[in-house]
Amino acid sequence: MSTIVITAGHSNVDPGATNGVVTEAHIVTDFRNMVAHYLRQAAADIRTDGEGNENLSLNAAIKLIKPRHIAVEFHCNAFTNPSATGVETLSQDKDKALGAKLCEAVANVLGIVNRGAKGEGSGQHSRLGYVRAGGIILELFFISNPDDLRRYLDKKWLVAREVANVLMVAADA
Ligand SMILES: [Zn+2]
Repeated sequence: MSTIVITAGHSNVDPGATNGVVTEAHIVTDFRNMVAHYLRQAAADIRTDGEGNENLSLNAAIKLIKPRHIAVEFHCNAFTNPSATGVETLSQDKDKALGAKLCEAVANVLGIVNRGAKGEGSGQHSRLGYVRAGGIILELFFISNPDDLRRYLDKKWLVAREVANVLMVAADA
């Protein structure tokens, strides 16, 4: 069984995107904790970039990734047009199959657009050292879209459970 690394984008000193009410760093730290809960319940071998409110820096997160680990970092997308919607992943080509499964799981639970598994140059995030180290960036939804955010807040535990399930299947493969 492969080790699963799950990390929260941004950090305690870098809030990431915000919609004026909630920050990306807060949402993805909470989400990391929920996915960790399900993975531990299933006795998966996991590494995280912190517990509770702790969200270590990108450099610390990258250091967790070793060869053959499955690594996913959680983010929220943001755009100036509030109607932009959906889930996507950014990864190396080798990880696009797993990225597509993660996108499908999130899109199905939230009922939002599946933007698909993309290459590392596609996103609004420029900090792609995580992808170069062999990890996948999962942009869960658009924090700038009130409908995306509402759907996520209603169903975040279900999203976390489905993401954990996809990761466990991949770790056992
Ligand atoms: Zn981000």
